Amino acid sequence: MSGQMMRTPLRVIDLLRHANRNHPRGEIVSRRAEGDIHRYTYADAYKRVCQLARALDRLGIAQDARVGTLAWNGYRHVELYFASAGLGAVCHTLNPRLLPQQIAWIGQHAADEILFFDASFVTLVEGIRDQLTGVRHVVLLGQCDSAVGADAAARIPDLLFYEDLISGELADELDWPIFDENQACGLCYTSGTTGDPKGVCYSNRSTVLHAYASALPDSLGLSARDVVMPVVPMFHVNAWGLPYIMPMVGGKLVLPGPALDGKSLYELCEAEQVTMAAGVPTIWLGLLDHLRTHGLSFSSLNRTVIGGSAASEAMIREFEEVHHVRVLHAWGMTETSPVGAVNQFKPVHDTLDRDARYRLQTRQGRELFGVEMRIEAETGEPIARDGKTHGRLPVKGPWVVDTYVGDVAAARQDGWFDTGDVATIDAEGYMSVVDRSKDVIKSGGEWISSIELENAAMGHPAIQEAAVIGRPHPKWVERPLMLCVLRPGHGLSSGELLAWLGERVARWWLPDAVEFVDELPHGATGKLLKARLRERYAAYRFNDQKHSTEDCS
Ligand code: AMP
Repeated sequence: MSGQMMRTPLRVIDLLRHANRNHPRGEIVSRRAEGDIHRYTYADAYKRVCQLARALDRLGIAQDARVGTLAWNGYRHVELYFASAGLGAVCHTLNPRLLPQQIAWIGQHAADEILFFDASFVTLVEGIRDQLTGVRHVVLLGQCDSAVGADAAARIPDLLFYEDLISGELADELDWPIFDENQACGLCYTSGTTGDPKGVCYSNRSTVLHAYASALPDSLGLSARDVVMPVVPMFHVNAWGLPYIMPMVGGKLVLPGPALDGKSLYELCEAEQVTMAAGVPTIWLGLLDHLRTHGLSFSSLNRTVIGGSAASEAMIREFEEVHHVRVLHAWGMTETSPVGAVNQFKPVHDTLDRDARYRLQTRQGRELFGVEMRIEAETGEPIARDGKTHGRLPVKGPWVVDTYVGDVAAARQDGWFDTGDVATIDAEGYMSVVDRSKDVIKSGGEWISSIELENAAMGHPAIQEAAVIGRPHPKWVERPLMLCVLRPGHGLSSGELLAWLGERVARWWLPDAVEFVDELPHGATGKLLKARLRERYAAYRFNDQKHSTEDCS
């Protein structure tokens, strides 16, 4: 017997319709590419989304059409998310930090039919326009009647302008089409560090369910009282879903545009009284550095979500002890929409001492209801949740990818998606990423976690950032090489750092060498590019191999 409840499909456009009815005065505040601040309400946003949908329809953008964007976090980008999804079209966020030929390849692979771009990307679009053969219209996110507009129009043939495109359209409520909730609404390509990037296509259903689960009190805990600043870009897994979640709960959304330096983020955070921010560790390094240098602190921020790469204990402590900001460590991937796990305490942790709580917070968190995770041995057998034994981390759930664009299988035959991460899960459900499987260092048949070594090094007051890679070793197969960037004005010898590490990690984990470098390479989504480091140090040989053989014995 079927249940007898309404079969109302879950649709992305309903998130904004809900905000329009229940939070019409809720705000979206954006720092525009032009540098100024733009402010309007959910009611204003909804009117413009109706106008935009009519304009898209007029241009022949129908159900399934891919709507490409090259844009920062801003209100027009939000409008594109909702108008395309509302029509049953697919908002395809391109990552402008990739190389132009990669962007053109992805735009072609996705079969984008129209491309919207911010004024910052005029030169980029001019360079790749001819390669985007399926793109029928290119639209500048601005207006014709401006210096940038005139310049862009002179360089890009048949250029359209967003404001001019929508201004003539009716802003009345649209009769949005009803379609199956599995209809696609968003598309994002993986960063493609190995092989070609792969397209992950989100559905209306997966996006709405992800928004519900992420907003729960023990997930990101979001409400109408929150002011949220996603620093994570809208072109990287939909800014972790925050542009969908905030209209759902009615809180204020603060979008930082292209200004991601510590000073600009701090000023926006203070001016708008942000309560929660979200981003990758590299962004917070810049922000914390700015606060330290100028003796500043936050007046409203009470929590920050850190994900994409591991948050170090040192960063978690600094946020908590100096700024009274709780770090919510979170884990996810492009393939998981992205939020799969968030680290929030349970009542059983209330009695833990401070150090134990910080250690717990370095774990990536518990699965959100809907997502299932497990740890597997090489044989595929599930491993006990003991918090110690590590293995592969497969996941499954309604917002986890099944198939990549182009019908390329993503999930395994048994229904699980292999994340490529190596992790542990403890008896309370807290998952901890040990490494990407390709970054694990195999020394004498045992594994060394590069993440744990990096975190230990970043606890040293003189270290700004650290990366650990495995290098070949005649006896131990691989041994760790640590590369460090010092904080400005600090000095440290490798001997001093090794002594510090010696008190924090097992002796046989100690790097065989430490090199100080000016900077470390980061990818288009802010992650350390370990593959590039391995290439750069391909010929590296440890000077003192005796040291490691003794330590490992
Ligand atoms: P992407 O799809 O580019 O977002 O990359 C996903 C990968 O980032 C995951 O498979 C993890 O290896 C890594 N990652 C995400 N969040 C974390 C985290 N909190 N700690 C450590 N690694 C993370």
